[in-house]
This record gives sequence, structure tokens and C-alpha cells, in this order.
Amino acid sequence: MGSKLVRQGSDPADAAHKPALRAIPPGLHFVSTPIGAARDITLRALDVLAGADVLVAEDTRTLRHLMEIHGIPLGGRPVIAYHDHSGEGQMQRLLSLLAEGKSLAYASEAGTPLISDPGFELARAVAAAGLPMTAAPGPCAAICALTLSGLPSDRFFFAGFPPSAQGARRSFLEELAGVQATLILYESPKRLAALLAEMAVTLGATRQAVVCRELTKRFEEVLRGSLADLAGQVAAREIKGEIVVLVDRAPPAEATEETIGAALDTVLQTMSVKDAATFVSQTLGVSRKIVYKIALDRQG
Ligand code: SAM
Repeated sequence: MGSKLVRQGSDPADAAHKPALRAIPPGLHFVSTPIGAARDITLRALDVLAGADVLVAEDTRTLRHLMEIHGIPLGGRPVIAYHDHSGEGQMQRLLSLLAEGKSLAYASEAGTPLISDPGFELARAVAAAGLPMTAAPGPCAAICALTLSGLPSDRFFFAGFPPSAQGARRSFLEELAGVQATLILYESPKRLAALLAEMAVTLGATRQAVVCRELTKRFEEVLRGSLADLAGQVAAREIKGEIVVLVDRAPPAEATEETIGAALDTVLQTMSVKDAATFVSQTLGVSRKIVYKIALDRQG
């Protein structure tokens, strides 16, 4: 599903940006584009779109529309369609242009290329050929959702779209269950209620989760609650638009004498008994007295 660009306001600040009159260096320039609000494009992205010799896009109509909104003329430059299944011929055509020293701007349908979007095969081929490549970073639904979620952001795991086939979907969720990071998934609105219900079973009904809908757009909405709560809320109403689902990390597994012993065996190879007891008690969140006693027992 493509992001619809929202043209905002009609005040003078909406006047088209004047791109810098700087030459765009040769090479491939990945360009991040808005996930909703057209004004989320960066000035640098506009410079690249205005100055590149060749424009390449997952959807050429979307790119033309974005350039039109921002008053960037095509000026007779070629606009080439490319996605990761475009085939070897199209890839070779882009690599030849790069080898000739041309500057190419690549934009996917919305947000950051390669993030559940095409661009990976191209980046890999350009890297392998040793040709120049850079990125004009910008909007990405996963990062925008993480920022608004209120869930821990120190470590996160972007899982993309879950598979739609039942079996593959179950093993996908089982693999995510123990990941010690905030989980970020993309999902279509029509499968959201089923996904939340399946996650309540696989990951635990009380795990905290957040659903972000229509980010940066008019009907932006953030729903928070346990997986069971959210599954109920979403099942009870019609959900439309673009969705990111985030889930808090799994609670740490409870420490047993066995897991404490295994941790001690590892650190006792390099630490004194006292230091090992302190380290393991802090890492596993268990009383130092208990850990110290287990350490002494293991010593002998
Ligand atoms: N490359 C994009 C990015 O950087 O986020 C993602 C492209 S992927 C094909 C499209 C999915 O991203 C949507 O189905 C939805 O899960 C998520 N998404 C994109 N725009 C969104 C928005 N404005 N609000 C919420 N989710 C969005």
C-alpha cells in the first residue's frame, strides 16, 4: 500500500524550496521521501532530486508528483523505474550510468529505500562494483513510530511485514518471542486484529504494545495497551490506513540455580569469586548473597 502525500497549508512558508545550485557528485544517491506529510522531505533530498543527472524510482508517478509538489522541474532528465525484481538488464543499465560518472537519485514509493522497500539488490551491486554511493536520510515509519511509542528505544528489532501464510507466520512470531529488544512490525490494516490476537498468544497477553496509524497524516493515531487489550480494541472497530505495531521486549527469564551456575562458570574463568558474584548478581538481578554461596559451592 502506498503512502498518500498530504499537501499541507497554503501560507507563504509553503512556497517551493529553492534547491542549492551545487553540482550533485557522481554516484548513487538514496533519497528518503515523506511517509505522509509532503513537507517532511529534507532540503538535501530536494537538492539531490533537483540536481541528479538521472532520476530512478520504485514508482515514477509518485516521484514526479512529489517533485511537482516541491516545484522541482524534471528538465528533460530521464526517469527510470526500478525495483528489486526489475531484472538484470535494468540493474546493468543503472550500473553503466554510474560507471560513466552520472549522478543517480533513487527513491522508493515512500520513506527510506530498503526498509521494507526496494533498493537492497541495487545497494549490494553498487557496493560490489566499488562505485560511489551515499544517502540523503529522512522519514521512516519504523523510526517515527518508535519515537512516539514510549517503549524503550535503547535496543529495537525491526521485523518488517509478518508472512501472511499461517505456518510461516506462527514460526515468525515464535522467533520474535524471546528477542530482548522493542519489536517493530509493519502490517496491513485488514490483518492487524488477527496479528494482535496471535501475538497475545505467542508473545504473552500482558506484553505492552503500541499501534501507530497514519503517522504524519491528518488521522494520525497512537493506541497503547497490553497485546490482549489492543487485540480487543482493534477487533471492535474498523481500522484503515497505514500501520506500525511495536511490542515491548520479553520480561527477562527467571534466574534458576542452574542459570546462575552457568553464568558463574563463564566469568570465574577470568574473575575472582567475589567479582564474579557481584557481576552475576547485577547482571541477573539476583541477591549477591545467593550468588556468592552458589559460587563457593562450585569452587569446591
Ligand atoms: N520504506 C518505508 C519506510 O521507510 O517506513 C516503508 C515502506 S512499506 C512498503 C509500507 C509500510 O510502512 C506500510 O504498510 C506501513 O506498515 C508502514 N508505513 C508507511 N507509512 C506509514 C505511516 N504514515 N504511518 C504508519 N505506518 C506507515
